[in-house]
Amino acid sequence: MKSAAIRIFPDPVLRKQTQSVVAFDRHLLKLIAVLTRTLRKQPCGIGIAAPQIGVAKAVAIVDVSKREPHAARLILVNPVILERKDPEARKEGCMSLPDYTAFLKRHRWVRFRYQDEHGLFHDKISVGIEAVCVEHEVDHLNGVLFIDHVTCLKTDLFPRTAGKHR
Ligand SMILES: [Zn+2]
Repeated sequence: MKSAAIRIFPDPVLRKQTQSVVAFDRHLLKLIAVLTRTLRKQPCGIGIAAPQIGVAKAVAIVDVSKREPHAARLILVNPVILERKDPEARKEGCMSLPDYTAFLKRHRWVRFRYQDEHGLFHDKISVGIEAVCVEHEVDHLNGVLFIDHVTCLKTDLFPRTAGKHR
């Protein structure tokens, strides 16, 4: 199984509203496998959304086990955030914008609904870095990038100096 190249801003696929997945078939399993493999190749990556490999479908992977060893990989198909709590300003980056990090408001508690790779529905609460990552990836599926949340480009957007990715 191959990994894929990461699409870099301003690639137009990153701005598309993704299509919901309706067929839970081998094509979906292959997409999930390629996303998982591509994410694993990124040294600090903790999440990836299908548009980042050029596929405008509502599929994302969240895997914060690099930062929290007991965390399990989440396969998110058609995820929707239902509730957000505990807002926090934090520094964030994105594999599709490798040259920048920014301070922006995220939430350390989110409740969301999603389907797994078999089409089963789940209602889940994530906290901490996993919650922040879920928000970031669901944004990707709606064509939203972290820079869109930056309120002041002058004070809150930074050129990336170290080679850290997420
Ligand atoms: Zn991203």
